[in-house]
Amino acid sequence: MSDKPTVLVTGGAGYIGSHAVLALKDAGYGVVVIDNLVTGFDWAVPDGVPLVRGDIADQPLVEATLRAHDVKAIMHFAGSVVVPESVDNPLKYYHNNSAKTRDLIESAVRVGVPHFIFSSTAATYGTPDVEAVREDTPQQPINPYGMSKLMTEYMLRDVAAAHPMNFCALRYFNVAGADPQGRTGQSTAGATHLIKVAVEAALGKRESVAIFGTDFDTPDGTGVRDYIHVSDLAAAHLLALEALMAEPDRNHLLNCGYGRGFSVLEVLDAVDRATNMPVKRVMTGRRAGDPGKLISDNGAILKTFPWTPRHADLDQIVAHALAWERKLGER
Ligand code: UDP
Repeated sequence: MSDKPTVLVTGGAGYIGSHAVLALKDAGYGVVVIDNLVTGFDWAVPDGVPLVRGDIADQPLVEATLRAHDVKAIMHFAGSVVVPESVDNPLKYYHNNSAKTRDLIESAVRVGVPHFIFSSTAATYGTPDVEAVREDTPQQPINPYGMSKLMTEYMLRDVAAAHPMNFCALRYFNVAGADPQGRTGQSTAGATHLIKVAVEAALGKRESVAIFGTDFDTPDGTGVRDYIHVSDLAAAHLLALEALMAEPDRNHLLNCGYGRGFSVLEVLDAVDRATNMPVKRVMTGRRAGDPGKLISDNGAILKTFPWTPRHADLDQIVAHALAWERKLGER
């Protein structure tokens, strides 16, 4: 048996959560997943990892799970993630992301779980007018999704000051790609994220890719983002866990990105290269609330954790996303 502790992964049947589960398991940690399977899939949880089907706000269920598995840390991925939906239905986001997380944190405090790792987002920054976003760049979310996550950062800060718990909030930039071994990937239908949409189009699952705006103040006029491979992100979560365990009095709020950006056209060029076939591009207007450019300054995470990204290559991110999309088609 491994002497590594057991981690509760909420949303472990979802896209990023399922990659974290694999990373934890590969590293010898005990893992238990809680997921309500609204957007996740039971098959995304690997054999041997217990899946508790239920809600993170079901405190009797969560607390029984924490006790039964002697959980020493929570990685919290469960939540709602579609920005335009959050604009149309803000209360869903304040409920699923803020209120339910409050209940989850309360369960953690009651049971005495000492470490909490939280999926935060670059959307907490809004539309910062800087070349690269640092952790101390003002957080001014421009949509309820970003605000619902920022509220959780505030809750964790206050709870960690009042109770014996430390936390790490990782502010993700644009997460893409899939497990290099093809064990999991982004599987939820109705995707809106660029690389997922583009690989679906490349495989004929959709007609074309809409380019949301060509008049941004960027080199080619299309939106620029910092795309990070999901497996590098999962690795950052393990390092966060080790850091929290090593220094129980220290919290971390860190950007998770590669510190460089690609435009929509550059991403589509990479998809075309991967298949040797152009996807159909349709120029349309800007999408509401889209910043022109969002790139991380990742100096802090590189300084704080021994994080060495292994897949910081757009072609590789696209290749892995494409391989998973092909596999999904065969399911
Ligand atoms: N985008 C696009 N067409 C799409 C989806 C996205 O042109 O079908 C653009 C979007 O405007 C932004 C970038 O691609 O500039 C990344 O958007 P995505 O939705 O993937 O992530 P976001 O940055 O909004 O979280």
